Amino acid sequence: MKAIIIGAGFSGAACARRLAEQGCDVLLLERSAHIGGNAYDEKKNGAFVHRYGPHIFHTNNEQVVKFLSRFTEWFPYEHRVLADLHGVFVPVPFNLDSLHKTFPEDKAAKLEAVLLREYGEGKKVPILELRKNPDADVRAFADFVFENIFRFYTEKQWGRKIEQLDPSIMQRVPVYVSREDRYFTDTFQLQPKDGFTALFERMLDHPNIRIVTGTDALTRLRVGEDGVFFDGAPCTDEVIFTGQADELLGYRFGKLPYRSLRFEFKTVPAPFQPAAVVNYTVSEAYTRISEFDKFTVERPAGDTSEIVYEYPQEYEAGKGMIAYYPVVNEENLALYEKYRAFLARFPHFHLLGRLGNYRYINMDAAVADALALADRLTADRED
Ligand code: FAD
Ligand code: UDP
Repeated sequence: MKAIIIGAGFSGAACARRLAEQGCDVLLLERSAHIGGNAYDEKKNGAFVHRYGPHIFHTNNEQVVKFLSRFTEWFPYEHRVLADLHGVFVPVPFNLDSLHKTFPEDKAAKLEAVLLREYGEGKKVPILELRKNPDADVRAFADFVFENIFRFYTEKQWGRKIEQLDPSIMQRVPVYVSREDRYFTDTFQLQPKDGFTALFERMLDHPNIRIVTGTDALTRLRVGEDGVFFDGAPCTDEVIFTGQADELLGYRFGKLPYRSLRFEFKTVPAPFQPAAVVNYTVSEAYTRISEFDKFTVERPAGDTSEIVYEYPQEYEAGKGMIAYYPVVNEENLALYEKYRAFLARFPHFHLLGRLGNYRYINMDAAVADALALADRLTADRED
């Protein structure tokens, strides 16, 4: 069996490795000059700098950890984020400590008691659910959190009114009815000891995998009503595509919306800020500042820190931008479905990954989906 995989991010790379280990010959095509996709990192002044924004590995999926642990050692890392509310730093997800930092003590104590009574200690409540609580005080509190943590940040991140977005986007960051101050509560919270790029190098180091970077697959792959063609000839290999379905098909049903980002990297005197990531939820044009030295590597504090500002922007096709986020809402999912349905007629063509499936997924889900697809293909194989 042969496979052509487009994209060397977590989806394409994990799929390539699994297929290669099942004896499949894999050709992996990557548009950019390097492997790793969005998770690519490089060392600068002792810190792993993530070129495409901060990447923290967290999962409840033990199989994914087991698979990736073959290619890296880890160090434990629990991510913490603060929101800067005009100079007052509060934990995000908004928790009971955030409540005490933003409300007068008597009011905060009263609200804490109501929240504990309504939801119970330890509950994680989606902000939109909290806003529907029958208690007027809880609703007023929820409105405060909505306005100070979610609205401005979400509208700048997505470039749309909050009402035009799928509620699942904000559900990624619930309100914690507890003192829990970790951004994630997954069982496994780890960072690769030698960085993500080294993990990818080892994952893709297999005699059955041939990697070609710096090649846009669309210069070699064509998909139309008449079939799937590679280098001009009808393609009988399995094709796994982790890029944008609309781009692949020449936007025949219209452009799928994506959000892009502009990153501004700086080296600054250390320490720079009070947490690894500070979110700007009520001010500034950037969404967040990440201080890589605080989370990508175990090392003594140096004199300088590597930081990055993230400025969201709309993705525009053909302008050399990178599509980072699918903009998930009903209308866009319906458009994506047209692309998916068109491609479903080719049994050897498979969409995969954050872009291929137009889904807002984390690294662990990308790996899990990739392994599942590889296992399905090798179980069904005829040769
Ligand atoms: P990608 O990493 O995007 O890889 C797709 C690859 O395909 C790219 O390398 C691209 O160049 C290539 N490609 C596309 N089209 C073509 C073509 N025509 N020809 C050749 N190559 C092509 N997840 C977490 O778990 N934790 C985090 O903390 C986290 N933080 C994130 C922060 C940011 C700013 C962003 C944008 C994402 C974050 N994610 C995080 C999500 C994570 O990046 C994705 O889950 C992961 O990258 C998905 O892997 P993928 O392989 O599907 O996509
Ligand atoms: N969000 C927000 N304020 C915050 C953090 C997150 O409004 O302080 C919303 C925002 O819409 C964001 C979404 O929750 O896009 C998901 O946040 P997450 O941190 O998962 O985003 P990512 O790291 O994937 O960019």
